[in-house]
Amino acid sequence: MEDHKKECIVCKRDEQQVPVTQFDYMGTRFWICSQHIPIIIHEPSKLIGLLPDADKINPAEDI
Ligand SMILES: [Zn+2]
Repeated sequence: MEDHKKECIVCKRDEQQVPVTQFDYMGTRFWICSQHIPIIIHEPSKLIGLLPDADKINPAEDI
């Protein structure tokens, strides 16, 4: 499994600056900060270009 640097895929800040959490997608490990986790949940289309095949992630239904 490929291991990326511990920095948020969106804002590029690392774990020295913000809390970051790791997630796995398409066989690759990524990092994202607490501030940008909601993007994965609600607006994954914003990750196109940052995450491979981000266009295949369905946003959570808004309640
Ligand atoms: Zn971030």
